[in-house]
Amino acid sequence: MNKYIQELNESQKAAVLHKEGPMIIIAGAGSGKTRVLTYRIAHLMNQNIDPFNILALTFTNKAAREMKERIANVVGTSEAKNLWMGTFHSVFARILRSEADHIGFPQNFTIYDTQDAVRLITSIIKEMELDKEKYKPKQILARISSFKNSLITVRAYFGNPDLIEADKMAQRPKVGEIYHQYVERCFRAGAMDFDDLLLRTNELLTRFPAVLSKYQQRFKYILVDEYQDTNHSQYLIVKALADRFQNICVVGDDSQSIYAFRGANIQNILNFQRDYDNVQIFKLEQNYRSSKNIVQAANSVIEKNKTKLDKEVWTANDEGSKVKVKQTVNEVTEGRFVADSIFDHKMNDHLKNSDFAILYRTNAQSRALEDALREKDIDYVIYGGISFYGRKEIKDVVAYLRILINPNDEEALKRIINYPARGIGATTIDKLAVAANHYKKSIFEILENLDQYDLNFNSGTRTKLLNFVTMIQHFQIEAQTKNAFEVAEFVIKQVRFIKDLEQDGTPEGVSKVENVQEILNKVKNFTEEQKEKAEDDSLAHFLETAALETSSDVATKDDKPRVSLMTIHLAKGLEFPYVYIVGLEENLFPSAMSMTTRSELEEERRLFYVALTRAEKQAYLCHAQMRYRWGKLVDCEPSRFLEEIDEKYLENLTTVNHKPVQNKFINEDIFGSVPQDRIRFKKPIQRTPVKPTSAPKVEFQPPKNLKKVVKTTNNPINLFDANISVGAIVSHTKFGKGEVLSLEGSGANQKAEIRFASVGVKKLLLQFAKLTII
Ligand code: ATP
Ligand code: MG
Repeated sequence: MNKYIQELNESQKAAVLHKEGPMIIIAGAGSGKTRVLTYRIAHLMNQNIDPFNILALTFTNKAAREMKERIANVVGTSEAKNLWMGTFHSVFARILRSEADHIGFPQNFTIYDTQDAVRLITSIIKEMELDKEKYKPKQILARISSFKNSLITVRAYFGNPDLIEADKMAQRPKVGEIYHQYVERCFRAGAMDFDDLLLRTNELLTRFPAVLSKYQQRFKYILVDEYQDTNHSQYLIVKALADRFQNICVVGDDSQSIYAFRGANIQNILNFQRDYDNVQIFKLEQNYRSSKNIVQAANSVIEKNKTKLDKEVWTANDEGSKVKVKQTVNEVTEGRFVADSIFDHKMNDHLKNSDFAILYRTNAQSRALEDALREKDIDYVIYGGISFYGRKEIKDVVAYLRILINPNDEEALKRIINYPARGIGATTIDKLAVAANHYKKSIFEILENLDQYDLNFNSGTRTKLLNFVTMIQHFQIEAQTKNAFEVAEFVIKQVRFIKDLEQDGTPEGVSKVENVQEILNKVKNFTEEQKEKAEDDSLAHFLETAALETSSDVATKDDKPRVSLMTIHLAKGLEFPYVYIVGLEENLFPSAMSMTTRSELEEERRLFYVALTRAEKQAYLCHAQMRYRWGKLVDCEPSRFLEEIDEKYLENLTTVNHKPVQNKFINEDIFGSVPQDRIRFKKPIQRTPVKPTSAPKVEFQPPKNLKKVVKTTNNPINLFDANISVGAIVSHTKFGKGEVLSLEGSGANQKAEIRFASVGVKKLLLQFAKLTII
């Protein structure tokens, strides 16, 4: 028997060795689903199945890369690179390129990212003279995206009175018209957005039976990881392709379905047995990832969900430490607790930064954590922030490159027609856009034949426009004989990007110059790697790879081990020895926007389950008593999920001591001796200084599930000392206006931590700080 088979338990082995026909592996977190999928592919290859005939769909590009490496190790050949493996978007973008002419798109179509899509929708709303407040571009894009993911085309929309009525009721009767315009404009620009990559694939497979048949024949084996998060459009593609051979293997966990808000449909997993004949079901129940305490704590929460398939998850791993719960005063002290704890673990347990992950519900939470990690000199990497390709200076460079490949790309053209400034004003661009719409051409086509259109430009403007066109045409000619790196280098030099940014002279300017240099490095690496593999090193291919880079593909400039920071959504499928889940507060997690229906709340609970099951050895659950949200200090209550975990598996880290403390601020640094398990303010925090007598009282309430370790007291704590208080707005001679976040020490040593609008958070010794209270 092959060695890799011995690395599997009996149920896993059965799933790997299963021969032909539809199969589903439904299993809990950490039970080896991804491992089974990987080994199954390796096993197929060992049975002489040609990797060109295997299609494997993963949730991120990174997962695909790692799987390929693992497979290459197991089968011991370089054949793994011939597998069709990647995200839905990357695999089908590749197929669409070779079949683009069927559906009227150029082979080199552009992929619009969300920023491009929002900009296009904003222009359409403006041109239609609609109210920006009623028609918010991001919301309209989300609506259009939901149509596309349910395969509702423009025609289908106008044929569906319910949809039209729904938009009328929402005071947005022109949604259909915007959708229509948007699709037209993308088509004319030779561009597809992310949802189009799936929608157009469906169109291709439905309208062209010969194309469908070709890919059915090619993909004799289809495997899908994280099947619970496929949307309707993805579901139909898989179903169409698998229809002929029915060798479809899907893997998933209904308890980890967390993308319903983006159209994922948990029914896809629940209905799999209905969709295919003779489905073999495999269940994996042994978790190999986490300690007993973590597995059981996670089970005790997910139990509360009503919609779920029956399955037991257990582990033979050690009991491990209990899941630790930590309450802090605010997000700043939360960050510090996490950074200190990571620091201590590293020192005591000889760990690397990469052994730790900090998970949060929303990206906005990363700020305070970053500050704290920096203070402790801990290297970290944030996944899912503004991606490298989302930065303005990079988008500008990439826009030049996009135009060379596809001159009809309207969003790219609008970015660069007057950047760097060449005196082409907004009115001119608007006029061009209107003409393009009127004549159903792209702006570039109008520009190329400017004489044929009567646009009333004065001779100065005409010359500038013609110079621009000549420059682009010149670049296009150069691009024909150069590889991706040579083109990028040539364009960056000719356009004098770096010169323009260098003139800026500010630190931001310097970092932008570095970024432009970094993109050149990226193109260079790309061309070299592609050459080595004897694969396509064209500029078009580089642009496609860049457009499909997902938030989880962040690469750092060096290979230092780093603490990972990301939203829970991005953490799906990953594992880390130590995991900190922060911001476990009502309205943040569960999110205030997802608590109105049972199904929304169940999705939040699944999200929590995903978060907790990422941890191998130790999980920390943190919540703050107050936190800045949307620029306001809000009072927070612990998340209901904390109460839902069986208390057997929890340890409360909060210090318990009952000495009442008077005239002190709530601040952990001075708070060690005060019971602070649950401090709730009866009144909102007052921002103006208040005399001690009028300070709000703080009352202690024991959390329901932590009764054993917590005793209560009725002693009020005075929040205010002297005349400066947490929450007060102050003015500093140098930094300007700021808000007091916390105070520590007393007398001459009293320090305040203040968030200034100009410079961020600073800690100042009050006797020198010369603050005025506003
Ligand atoms: P998730 O639900 O989070 O996606 P999963 O079910 O895909 O998890 P894997 O990531 O495949 O689980 O496996 C979890 C961990 O357990 C991995 O580190 C994997 O290498 C390990 N593992 C899985 N099966 C075995 C096994 N039979 N023996 C030893 N380790 C295993
Ligand atoms: Mg997995």
